[in-house]
Amino acid sequence: MPAGTVAAWRGVVEEFRGDLSLPAGAPAVSLREGNTPLVPALRAGRGADLYFKIEGQNPTGSFKDRGMAVAVSGALADGARFLVCASTGNTSASAAAYAARAGLPALLAVPAGEGAVAKGKLAQALAFGARLVLVRGNFDQALAAVRALATARPDAALVNSVNPLRLEGQKTGAFEVVQQLGDAPQWLCIPVGNAGNISAYWRGFCEYRQAGRSTRVPRLVGAQAAGAAPLVSGQWVDRPETVASAIRIGRPASAHLARAAVAEADGRFLAVADAAILEAYRFLAREEGIFCEPASAASLAGFWAAQRQGLIRQGEQVVCILTGSGLKDPDRAVAEGDPPLEAEATPEALLGALPRALCD
Ligand SMILES: *Cc1c(COP(=O)(O)O)cnc(C)c1O
Repeated sequence: MPAGTVAAWRGVVEEFRGDLSLPAGAPAVSLREGNTPLVPALRAGRGADLYFKIEGQNPTGSFKDRGMAVAVSGALADGARFLVCASTGNTSASAAAYAARAGLPALLAVPAGEGAVAKGKLAQALAFGARLVLVRGNFDQALAAVRALATARPDAALVNSVNPLRLEGQKTGAFEVVQQLGDAPQWLCIPVGNAGNISAYWRGFCEYRQAGRSTRVPRLVGAQAAGAAPLVSGQWVDRPETVASAIRIGRPASAHLARAAVAEADGRFLAVADAAILEAYRFLAREEGIFCEPASAASLAGFWAAQRQGLIRQGEQVVCILTGSGLKDPDRAVAEGDPPLEAEATPEALLGALPRALCD
């Protein structure tokens, strides 16, 4: 390396290969995912020592890229001829990008309903040239279809989080949190949809604890949207409903892993209402300067709910995983924002648009 050159981050496969169960000699398919910022909260902590892990800064704007890099690396090692997945949007955006990178076609099944998938995610899948199928049904039905397809076609790589390599990749988020804080936090708050990511984080924290790279594991708060909260109620939800489309899932495929993780971690699944999710979404943007998508804000809403219940106490160290970028869902941002004003192009007219407190 030339003198003065900073060692470049190589992405999760190469940075963490020794800690991933990936076939030896698998090629690394990478867009330099991972290495995302851990940002201290200024106002949202309300007495806790709170940090945000900004997973929206991954290459396609969500944490899915960590798992996708490893799953697609494994797919190439296996000689897969195409990728397939069901998705509420971010998995398909990520699969489409890593398919392009790997030189493989991608077949994406997303729910067809109005507002089922945020516009930015659809735009990504199309831009990357994937074959996008709008399925008549919800996410759970789309996932059942692609699982059956993958059984019938051994040359297909199923890249949903039922693929064990997805969780392997996503556990690197926990590794980074430990490296960034110097230890595991006391609490991890994370949104739960298909329940893969919470399971992956738990695995990552346990592995680092076992290897002596941390002194503790966190307690877990798994935040589900109230209209899609099967892990809170203990019952599958046939028609999941929430503004947080990324976690609009009624039958989480990794429910068993997530239940075990939360039990071992002495944690809790909490339901957060859409109004609480949107309050956290606006607060993050307006009071912290962090623009995430609604599903991601469920982690902050879950943290606040845990604080109110006395579960999380003053002074405790907490990390909220902000799973995806706010740019994914521009329609929501416009709906939640103050409407723009119109004015003549004169200084006087512009000054008239200032908030009252600044007018004199
Ligand atoms: C996929 C996703 C989730 C949910 O993760 P699961 O592993 O399905 O529980 C949360 N937020 C965003 C932005 C996502 O894309």
